[in-house]
Amino acid sequence: MMILVMNAGSSSLKYQVYNMLNETVLAQGRVERIGMDASILTHEPTGGTEVNQVSEILDHNTAVRKVIDVLTHPEHGVIPSMDAIQAVGHRVVHGGESFKASTLVTEEVKKEIRRLFDLAPLHNPPAMMGITAVEINLPNIPQVVVFDTAFHQSMPQETFLYPIPMVLYRRHKIRRYGFHGTSHDYVSKQAAKTLGRPLESLKMVTCHIGNGASCAAILNGKTYDTSMGLTPLEGLMMGTRSGDIDPAIVPFTMNKEELSLSEVNSMLNKHSGLQAISGISSDMREIVEAMEGGDKQAKLAFDMYTYRLRKYIGAYAAGMNGLDAVVFTAGVGENSVAVRRAVCEQLSFLGIELDVERNQIRSKEPRFITKDGSRVQVLVVPTNEELLIARDTYQLVKA
Ligand code: ADP
Repeated sequence: MMILVMNAGSSSLKYQVYNMLNETVLAQGRVERIGMDASILTHEPTGGTEVNQVSEILDHNTAVRKVIDVLTHPEHGVIPSMDAIQAVGHRVVHGGESFKASTLVTEEVKKEIRRLFDLAPLHNPPAMMGITAVEINLPNIPQVVVFDTAFHQSMPQETFLYPIPMVLYRRHKIRRYGFHGTSHDYVSKQAAKTLGRPLESLKMVTCHIGNGASCAAILNGKTYDTSMGLTPLEGLMMGTRSGDIDPAIVPFTMNKEELSLSEVNSMLNKHSGLQAISGISSDMREIVEAMEGGDKQAKLAFDMYTYRLRKYIGAYAAGMNGLDAVVFTAGVGENSVAVRRAVCEQLSFLGIELDVERNQIRSKEPRFITKDGSRVQVLVVPTNEELLIARDTYQLVKA
């Protein structure tokens, strides 16, 4: 019962092998610099020694072949042959309105993913390359696609539509899709388990804050609203992305700075957020360090970041007419004591009572960081998107 999970980017391919009998990882790894010189394959068998191979890997097809070689290698391998693999599950960023759940790969499904290239030009084409590469190298193994957008397809029209001409939605499907769905899905379920309450009775805000960041209002186990939109640019302030701004800033800046549309696009995606305000880094660790060393711009970046996060939590509490729990996950959410503290301490009016000591504890397990009697509980739940992909894949092939 082994499942191979793949996450293909434009120049990278990450993988994990799961034994679904006990949901353990047998090996994980990644191929980086695909299509460039000196591509690197890093392979980590669980409990074994890490393997690093540098070679020429010109495309995803070759990358998949290298992964197969290392997985079945007599020394570093973890399976005798690829026959041990029941199915391959792929992460696909955009499923548009077509995919409301994970699905087996068919000709029809591939056609639809290609049709959605427009909506995620940087993300969906590499995922498709991963699917094709597996098809070529492992023609008899079923494949499953798991979409970042699927979990959020439960949003009602009042939260997913933008107040712009309806014709744009009808013609081009311009609407809020939201991303990190697999993570919001996983951590909301884990949080309900930790709370010991049925997910269907809870009002939760899940905060997935890593390099990219999004919040979701989870009402009775389903997304009611989420902060990312048509693309992953909307919503929270991020490492290098602006998040919400007045859309009129785009034409205004183009005019004043004589910039092209693609230059402004790149400014908002790659040269904004923490990086732009601090002038130091997009990495929250470095921001906090500089702030503690007295850097004023770093403090401003931190204050803006945490203010915007608080604003979303408050807005979603209002949107759901209540709040039972807040969940922090991903790189910043799981690790930044300072961010969680700045957010929670300023939300005491909502009934959040932070426990300063619990907030300091590091663990791989879901945990509370509020006091026992806190009306709204706050949890840190390490995300595991790969496990959810493996589970969906396993369920679909078993059926
Ligand atoms: P991605 O969004 O690329 O999946 P992650 O969820 O792994 O990324 O988040 C990466 C980010 O997490 C880093 O850029 C860094 O800002 C942040 N991070 C990791 N560890 C810490 C820490 N100890 N304190 C603050 N931020 C951290």
